[in-house]
Amino acid sequence: MEPTAPITQDVMTIPRKTDDGGKRNLVGLTRDQLREALISVGTPEKQAKMRTGQVWQWIYQWGVREFEVMTNLAKTYRALLAEHFVIEIPEVVSRLVSEDGTRKYLVRIAGGHEVEVVYIPEEDRGTLCVSSQVGCTLTCSFCHTGTQKLVRNLTAAEIVGQIMMARDDLDEWPEPGAPKDETRLLSNIVLMGMGEPLYNFDNVRDAMKIAMDPEGISLSRRRITLSTSGVVPEIARTAQEIGCLLAISFHATTDDVRDKLVPINKRWNIEELLGALAAYPKASNSERITFEYVMLDGVNDSDEDAHRLIDHIKRHNIPAKINLIPFNEWPGAPYKRSSNNRIRAFANIIYQAGYASPIRKTRGEDIMAACGQLKSATERARKSKRQIEAEAGLGQ
Ligand code: SAH
Ligand code: SF4
Repeated sequence: MEPTAPITQDVMTIPRKTDDGGKRNLVGLTRDQLREALISVGTPEKQAKMRTGQVWQWIYQWGVREFEVMTNLAKTYRALLAEHFVIEIPEVVSRLVSEDGTRKYLVRIAGGHEVEVVYIPEEDRGTLCVSSQVGCTLTCSFCHTGTQKLVRNLTAAEIVGQIMMARDDLDEWPEPGAPKDETRLLSNIVLMGMGEPLYNFDNVRDAMKIAMDPEGISLSRRRITLSTSGVVPEIARTAQEIGCLLAISFHATTDDVRDKLVPINKRWNIEELLGALAAYPKASNSERITFEYVMLDGVNDSDEDAHRLIDHIKRHNIPAKINLIPFNEWPGAPYKRSSNNRIRAFANIIYQAGYASPIRKTRGEDIMAACGQLKSATERARKSKRQIEAEAGLGQ
């Protein structure tokens, strides 16, 4: 059966959190919005720039959540801020650590929704895989997130809050006044969790701008990679307004097959997508575009596919590397993972053509934290809770 493809964006973003007796959350505000917020409670215009810088630094450089500890602000001013504002990030509901050190967090956001965040430690870096939506409106047929009915955009606070939550867990906030530590446990961000980041553009942009700000979390734009299934009109904006690296969920070399795997292809086909990638202003040999390619047995993994893939990239002269992802199966998935021999043969053709073709190591499989599995874990957790309750009921 052909997957249906609602290529719409009929999802909502809830207003910034106003819990705690209507207090506004300062997390996720851009510098300008933070300045406006401080002025709105009586901060004199003349002091606004300085106060914004101070509060910003406390929140994003030192990771504090209480106004009380902001010792370079007058006591009365701290009290004023505490009266009107909160500094709030999503709440961690569960935390699983894989045999390989991968950590998977389930965090709860306003409305009782849950999203998953994955931390992947490697020798020379630590990558946080961040979610941009609850579920996804797109319905890629190999992706479990795409089968989730419920969808809501995350706010900027909820997106940058995932990074802050992970820094809490890794105990990576420096002591105020301590020298800058260049070795980071959390050194890279990939927007490859749940959701299509380019269908939540403004919030993703604001959150990434905050993560890049040199007076805060201070991650280089080159250490942030946004993965999209191919929302063509937003690709140029990504370069202009975010400036991060780009990964593209390519996954097929003909429109026929891509229409089925990545249904957004019916809206913007392979040629249109390649045109947008060729025009990506940041693309260069040092900032290559990553082509993600999930290896599905007998579907998209032939030698001809490998040759066609190279031909597409060469024809458009796109600085690229090709990341081959062994398919991560989930219960009821309609595909099988290609054999290791097939994946290696495919990689070899790409390599011979002069392109890097790393095969993505599957991480955190034992905790269902691998690419595309980020729905099932939540569902499974729920199911097992129900099961446990049912069993408890039976036992009574
Ligand atoms: N929505 C965005 C980002 C999230 S998905 C996008 O589609 O690009 C991150 C990557 O995991 C994408 O390349 C996606 O196609 C891939 N993926 C999804 N399900 C997968 C699965 N079951 N096995 C392997 N990769 C999968
Ligand atoms: Fe959405 Fe990406 Fe999954 Fe497609 S692969 S359904 S765009 S999360």
